[in-house]
Amino acid sequence: QDRIVAIDGPAGTGKSSVSRRLAERVGARYLDTGAMYRVATVVALRAGVDLDDPAAIEAAVDGIDLSLSNDPSSHTVFLAGEDVSSEIRTDAVTDAVSAVSAVPAVRTLMVDKQRALADGEFAVVEGRDIGTVVFPRAGCKIFLTATAQARAERRHEQNLAQGRESDLAAVLAAVERRDHLDSTRAVSPLRAADDAIQVDTSDLGIDDVIDRLADLVQT
Ligand code: C5P
Repeated sequence: QDRIVAIDGPAGTGKSSVSRRLAERVGARYLDTGAMYRVATVVALRAGVDLDDPAAIEAAVDGIDLSLSNDPSSHTVFLAGEDVSSEIRTDAVTDAVSAVSAVPAVRTLMVDKQRALADGEFAVVEGRDIGTVVFPRAGCKIFLTATAQARAERRHEQNLAQGRESDLAAVLAAVERRDHLDSTRAVSPLRAADDAIQVDTSDLGIDDVIDRLADLVQT
């Protein structure tokens, strides 16, 4: 685990772009664990399960055939051979992912897969519980933060850039809702590891954040 770079933090801190580009810069593998929970959510939604029923979610996700590359230049995620890379980014999935990822059996399954994909590698692993649960002995732990306002503004601008309708107040409410669900759940709540280095990205551009993290990885 000493070659693992664990990057945790809430949505909207620039975590995904930063992690992927950091991996490219330092020549590491890359694992987006949020994408894995999103694939599990696709499975649950397709099965039409009640999101208030953890046992039904567990049954639907059990035996999931998910595969993704640990190459930072690859954005493709497969479910039983089907490319679901776009589907995992839809609002329906984003709205349901907290409920699915709160189910303990789903987490156990995903954590096992994450360890299998990254252990022994020089890899940037990005998520919510990487430095606390998945790789507690990671050589480098980073926790990205940003104010809810800054994170909502980023998401809002992304929506507009993608030609989607967006209302900043609604985006802020959604960001706060997902933060609340992610940080108050019983299993693996979002929190910084005691030995994580916290980096506040509210007032930093993505290149500044990457420079900062590349320094931390190399030292
Ligand atoms: O990072 P991303 O926004 O794609 O993550 C989607 C969701 O997956 C998060 O809101 C969280 O509920 C869940 N997640 C998790 N543990 C991780 C990564 C993501 O519970 N390691």
